[in-house]
Amino acid sequence: MIKFSDVSKQYADGTKALTSLDLQIEDGEFFVLIGPSGCGKTTTLKMMNRLIDPSSGVISMDEKEIASYDIHELRWDIGYVLQQIALFPHMTIEENIAIVPELKKWDKKKVQSRVDELLEMVGLDPLVYKNRKPDELSGGQQQRVGVARALAADPQVILMDEPFSALDPISREKLQDDVVELQQRIKKTIVFVTHDMQEALKIGDRICIMKEGRVVQVGTPHDILHNP
Ligand code: ADP
Ligand code: ADP
Repeated sequence: MIKFSDVSKQYADGTKALTSLDLQIEDGEFFVLIGPSGCGKTTTLKMMNRLIDPSSGVISMDEKEIASYDIHELRWDIGYVLQQIALFPHMTIEENIAIVPELKKWDKKKVQSRVDELLEMVGLDPLVYKNRKPDELSGGQQQRVGVARALAADPQVILMDEPFSALDPISREKLQDDVVELQQRIKKTIVFVTHDMQEALKIGDRICIMKEGRVVQVGTPHDILHNP
């Protein structure tokens, strides 16, 4: 479980991004943060793997304050998928996915079988794709690799910041379906940022609506639709 207790964030230039945020994200939940641009979604997400630290308040994971985790272990335990496709262009797909397992010094055989397994999980044939470079894949395929990479070291939590927003509508719908299906299979916690309510309603177990750095409503898609 990830818990935010009275978390606020003011950036160095004085911008107040979050005010007194309280949130509880359960294990294995598909949790969606939604709201207009600038409402604090990315700030909230980045705090979970300490790319940003709060100005005040406490964030804990499994009852332990995240500030007390070793930062590398925390980041290995929390996969991150960005909006902009962030694969290393000079590296093959296999090398891109293997970065964290190699940092963790898994043996070569285990890394290779993990890469194959992950590519299968995200719907890419390892024999066809693992030796290619990112620019030999479509945008949707590259995001699939991004998801595989985030899952590589078997994290407990996966953070996704508008991962599909740069894709064409058809690839996007397919990836939404596939990520929901994948999550049901692997039962990891996913925290997903979007500004698209249709996407949120389609994929979320629970949706957190944010506005101007505050939580407006948290509920299931059913709650959100019936008690706006
Ligand atoms: P969202 O992801 O919902 O678009 P963000 O969390 O990125 O919102 O931003 C929340 C607010 O904080 C915005 O007003 C944004 O401009 C501001 N902000 C984000 N990052 C920084 C930063 N590094 N320095 C100053 N202000 C920032
Ligand atoms: P998003 O696409 O999630 O809205 P942004 O374009 O707001 O992302 O932010 C991209 C990057 O710029 C982030 O790392 C964010 O922290 C930073 N950033 C956003 N707003 C500001 C700001 N007002 N001043 C400085 N950095 C900012």
